[in-house]
Amino acid sequence: MKKPILNIDEVEKELNKAEQYEDIENQGQFLQTIYLGSILSLTPSGKIYTPWTNSNLEPCTRCKGEGKIKNKHKSTKNVDAIDRKIRRVANDWVKPYATLTKRQQQLIDKLRKIREHYDEWKTCPECYGMCSLEARLDEDWWKQLESELEQINAWYHGSEGDGCDIMISRVAADQTEE
Ligand SMILES: [Zn+2]
Repeated sequence: MKKPILNIDEVEKELNKAEQYEDIENQGQFLQTIYLGSILSLTPSGKIYTPWTNSNLEPCTRCKGEGKIKNKHKSTKNVDAIDRKIRRVANDWVKPYATLTKRQQQLIDKLRKIREHYDEWKTCPECYGMCSLEARLDEDWWKQLESELEQINAWYHGSEGDGCDIMISRVAADQTEE
């Protein structure tokens, strides 16, 4: 079990105290919102970036930012043999994968899995192919935050002001109880 990010009871208490306001996008529904903190101090990397501007991230040391590493089980002979087997199962790909029978698809999936084991490259186990460990840890963090908030039917989002703000909202409690 991972260490929780939130003290969920405290978050819920704070939300209970927060003022209710009408949702602009969904009139008649009232929300409660609290400020959780800054991306800069809460996320593992403490950095702000978008997928198209991640130059401020440290490249993964394991794969040097390539997202893949040389496979020490590499075997061209085995890969070739498996490729031949896959082609045989797929009847030389006269039909696309989606139109093959379930049994053929399962067999091909299994062979592809084995093929990965002998392929020249494999996805970096450190950064999951994201090329930066920071990016991967951040992604894990956001996912965990999301799932912790789901327990109290809340969600995270940004604010209109500071781009670093992490806000938490939920539908006002006395509305959901109706
Ligand atoms: Zn890596």
